[in-house]
Amino acid sequence: MPESDKSEQDWKRDLSPNQYKVLREHATEYPGTSPLNDEKRHGVYRCAGCGQPLYASDTKYESGSGWPSFWEPLPGAVETSTDYKLAYPRTEVHCASCKGHLGHVFDDGPQPTGKRYCMNGVAMSFEPETKSD
Ligand SMILES: [Zn+2]
Repeated sequence: MPESDKSEQDWKRDLSPNQYKVLREHATEYPGTSPLNDEKRHGVYRCAGCGQPLYASDTKYESGSGWPSFWEPLPGAVETSTDYKLAYPRTEVHCASCKGHLGHVFDDGPQPTGKRYCMNGVAMSFEPETKSD
């Protein structure tokens, strides 16, 4: 079944309760709780919902926010929408494949993009690069 055709029941079955809350209900994990904050290895960050590659490790940086942060997603990996949940609008970021909520993007990131993709670690899985030598 394509990920986009999954029912909420299917997602509940396939995701952990915390993953479900973030990816499907747009919750935000507590800052500083994700093991991915300290992940420094080379590799790829994938969507925890569907496995789509989202970010390369060389675009990850330490933002000090308590959430895994990146300055650029992989081409076509994510989509954005405007989120009016708080008093000011924010730009919500979701997986382009399964539409699962990942986090938000802000304009205070480092160069070359100036963007800060502030991600929920629980919404992603990290796949370390396997050395071929
Ligand atoms: Zn996905």
